This record gives sequence, structure tokens and C-alpha cells, in this order.
Amino acid sequence: MAKRDYYEVLGVERTATQEEIKKSYRKVALKFHPDRNPGNPEAEESFKEAAEAYEVLGDQEKRARYDRYGHEGVKTAFGSGGFQWSDFHHASEMEDIFGGLFSAFFGGANPFGGGRGGPRGRDIRMRYPLTLEEAFSGTKAKVSFERREVCSPCAGSGAAAGSKPERCPRCGGSGTVRLSRGFFSVQTTCDQCGGAGTIISRPCPDCRGEGLVPRKVELTFDIPGGVDDGMSLRLRGEGEPAPQGRGERGDLYVNFQMREHDLYTREGPHIHLDLPVSITQCALGAEVRVPTLHGEQIVNVPTGTQSHTVFRLRGKGMPAGNGAFGDQFVRAIVVTPRKLNDRQRELLLALAEESQEDYHSCRKKSFFEKLKDTIVDVVS
Ligand SMILES: [Zn+2]
Ligand SMILES: [Zn+2]
Repeated sequence: MAKRDYYEVLGVERTATQEEIKKSYRKVALKFHPDRNPGNPEAEESFKEAAEAYEVLGDQEKRARYDRYGHEGVKTAFGSGGFQWSDFHHASEMEDIFGGLFSAFFGGANPFGGGRGGPRGRDIRMRYPLTLEEAFSGTKAKVSFERREVCSPCAGSGAAAGSKPERCPRCGGSGTVRLSRGFFSVQTTCDQCGGAGTIISRPCPDCRGEGLVPRKVELTFDIPGGVDDGMSLRLRGEGEPAPQGRGERGDLYVNFQMREHDLYTREGPHIHLDLPVSITQCALGAEVRVPTLHGEQIVNVPTGTQSHTVFRLRGKGMPAGNGAFGDQFVRAIVVTPRKLNDRQRELLLALAEESQEDYHSCRKKSFFEKLKDTIVDVVS
């Protein structure tokens, strides 16, 4: 089944404000909430679908990516199994979205499967340079980097063999202490255990009590076609393990950086190319071969083409989501011959003689007006 458009799911226009999106999500979520539709798996699906749509449209950055590339553009925000409740980042603003209704509605229980609360391992961020060709077709990436992993001798506890982390004597395990200053009493993080609630009197020699040790990691993953400069791919659970193995692992964020290309410049889904053409090709008309990311393309340069005329090759640009492609814009740049042999010189002189009239009349007319880029659509 084709994935539904997120705007359609929430029943809003593509131009809707964040406030309108939030409002609509509230309406849809209330309608399909499982408590209101007991034993109705379809309603439950719709409830989840609305949350997914809100997860994307309720976030400026994800929404922008979705607007540009469709579902393909936000696929990487979720795990390989698609959107899960753990991907839902709005659990905390539910109070705001549902008003007072929320807790009564969900009976006080967290309907979001625990969410992403609790201790989490650290996220890792890295940059990944991409060529235009790789970004065009998508690619298998292989990266190697250093990541801290659970120390095996102490199994992540940080305590030397035969010992255990002990309850912090200063805070009694709570991680916080009360400090009295004159009339005031304030609660602060325990300075002896740093808030962990435990202390390690005999640290593990392998990890020096940290419970984590650096390891070299190699990872391969797929980069979808169409990614652009500055976009990130989240690889869930590929960050560091949670402290002492209690809690979720962090994520790995791969940030793409586009390398410059010799021929093409990119503008979102579109590609621009300057194509050198000769005076005679432009004057007489010619079929010229034009490189595109989709392979070579023949473009018909009509008789009398001016320099800087732009030809648009529809659908010959970058993947733009949902099977669509941007366009390639080819700007014909007339190159003047640098060196002439005698014969060429003769012919050009003859041409000049013959063209005196044309040249002057051309100048009389608004020459500069003609010089402006004109776009010619190429039907292929
Ligand atoms: Zn303490
Ligand atoms: Zn250790």
C-alpha cells in the first residue's frame, strides 16, 4: 500500500502553520485514540499514522525535507522498520496538545511505550563527504571510527574484578545532597559521586572506572539517492552504550557534505551546466551532446541561438522523492576561436564584410535585452 501524504493524514493544507498542524493532529489523535476505539486495529493504525505525520510536519527541519523529497526525504529519521512510538518526540508536549484531557485520556499511563527517557548513551556525530554521483544514485557507505564500548573485564560497572560499585556514602545513593546556606537549603548534585549515586573505590584498570573503552568500529549503511549538503542520517543505536549498560544506546548522526563537481553545480533537485558551443554551431544550428547524470543527451541547438541561452532538460536532475527528478539547466556559452589559420581568418573576414549591416542593426535594437538568459524547454 502506498504511504499516505502526511498533509492528507492530518487534513491540512501544505501551507498550514505549525499551530494549525498541531491543532489538526490533536483532532485526528483524539478521534482515533485506542481508548475511544477499543479492539479496533484500524483506528490504532490511524492513531499511529497521525503521530508519524505530526512527528514530521511538527518539526520545521523534517517538514522542509518532506516538502522537498517526500517520504524518501524523512525515511532516515526512523529505523529500518519505519516509524515507531519511540521515534515520537512530542510525548512531553502532549499536555500542551491535549490540554487537561491528556492524563485522563491515557489513564496516566505513558502511551508511547516508555519513550526515550532514562539514561541514554552519548550520540556520535560525523561528517561524510559525498560526490554528486553518489548523492544522485545513492550509495553504500563504509565508515570506520572510534566508539566507546562496554568494557568487558568489568562488564561496564567500572569496578575492578572482585569489587562492585558501592553506594555513595555522601548522598546515600540519591545522587543529590542538601546544602544549607544561612537560612536557605538547596539541593545540588552530589560532588562525591557526580550524581551517579555510586562510587568506585577500586576502579577497573582497563577503563579506569569509566565502564567504557574506545574501540575501532567499522560500519556499512545505505545512503539513499537525493541527499543534499547538510542533511543528516540517523543510525539508531549506533552511538555509545548507556552508562553501565542501563538504558538505550545513543545514535550515530552522519552529516553529508557535498563535494564540488567539475562540471555540474547543484541547486536542490536541479543541476546546472555550462556548455561550450562554437559560433558556427549557434549560428547554423547543431545537435550537441550534453552530459547529464542520467547519461548523455542530445540537445538540438536551433539556428541563431545566442550565447547564454539556457536549455532545460526536464527530469534530468537529482532524485526529488517519490520517483520524481529535478531538471538539468544547460547554458550554452559561445566560445570564440583563439587561434585562426589563414583559411579560417579569410572566411571570418568575408563573413564580417557580409555581416556589417546585421551587426549594426543588431546593436540598434535593444541588444542587451536579447542578452538576458532565455530558457528553452527541450522535449526529449
Ligand atoms: Zn553521592
Ligand atoms: Zn572496566
